[in-house]
Amino acid sequence: MKSELEDRRSQLVAMRERVLRAAHDIAEDDNEDGELSSAAGDQHLADHASEIFDREVDDSLEENAGAIVREIDLALERIDAGTYGTCLGCGRPIPEERLAAVPYAVLCVPCKRDEERG
Ligand SMILES: [Zn+2]
Repeated sequence: MKSELEDRRSQLVAMRERVLRAAHDIAEDDNEDGELSSAAGDQHLADHASEIFDREVDDSLEENAGAIVREIDLALERIDAGTYGTCLGCGRPIPEERLAAVPYAVLCVPCKRDEERG
């Protein structure tokens, strides 16, 4: 059991780093507004359209990254507290296949759905 948790912890830590790096890259891109990358220099119009599109995607990615990092932190805290894998909503165990798909899940699927519904 313990080594399973340790595996999960390193998985979460690696995931956290990846998300943070992605968010960082996006933030860097934002600082280079107006500069065309040399590879895209001969397609101004198309680039402009895709730039606008990219920015919208980036914004939601940036928001998502923050939310995901918070959830990962929460999951890591729960590993330390020994409550990882237990639903925050109903207190029942979160199914293993859900944790395999979403290692930072702190709610089971029905509770998550309730939360999203408000
Ligand atoms: Zn639940």
